[in-house]
Amino acid sequence: TAHDGTRRRVLLKLSGEAFAGGGGLGVDPDVVHAIAREIATVVRAGTEVAVVIGGGNFFRGAELQVRGMDRARSDYMGMLGTVMNCLALQDFLIKEGIETRVQTAITMGQVAEPYLPLRAVRHLEKGRVVIFGAGMGMPYFSTDTTAVQRALEIHAEVLLMGKNGVDGVYDSDPRTNAGAVKFDSLDYAEVISRDLKVADLTAITLCKDNGLPILVFELLAEGNIARAVKGEKIGTLISQ
Ligand code: UDP
Repeated sequence: TAHDGTRRRVLLKLSGEAFAGGGGLGVDPDVVHAIAREIATVVRAGTEVAVVIGGGNFFRGAELQVRGMDRARSDYMGMLGTVMNCLALQDFLIKEGIETRVQTAITMGQVAEPYLPLRAVRHLEKGRVVIFGAGMGMPYFSTDTTAVQRALEIHAEVLLMGKNGVDGVYDSDPRTNAGAVKFDSLDYAEVISRDLKVADLTAITLCKDNGLPILVFELLAEGNIARAVKGEKIGTLISQ
């Protein structure tokens, strides 16, 4: 972290749902373009940015399982969906003039590099954005857990968790409860004991065990990625 509070290296987790825009399914290029512009701004200002993108705009393994599919196979479908989001973001980052590499946990040499943590760090040091695709390559995990694992492995200072349509963590669902109260900060134990819907328990536990702070914030509000990177008081900060 610099003297003014600006983060030096961050892991940005983007929800797949956000990529769909109003459509719910697939990729809305206007949304991806807007996100790419914001990422480009912070990269130009000198922050190293790695990205993990979800795949909820295509498939979620657990939802396909309910519809009768084998869980592991549908999780692989979910992971492949995240790669399409990665390529969309890569495209718009390149259009912004930002060098970008996609690294996937399932190898697919024609479209991406394999996940190589040391190489990812080298890319970051050179000012390239690194986008991690295909989750961790393992069924039964989420991209939230992936984001925590990647953040730890590349030594990101913070996990910036961009949400779609909610500006932090609340004591109840603000979409259904008008009286829901937002937390400015929380500790991991509270997130777990109150069963707050920040990320899945595996992801939160991994953060807690390793002391990785998470900032939950509204992704699509203009300028928010830069605010999060600068350490401004937005969203909800979860730490020890
Ligand atoms: N997934 C998986 N292993 C991983 C990461 C993701 O099996 O390491 C699958 C899982 O089926 C998940 C889907 O990919 O539902 C899409 O990811 P996620 O639900 O985390 O996306 P988000 O909700 O963030 O858009």
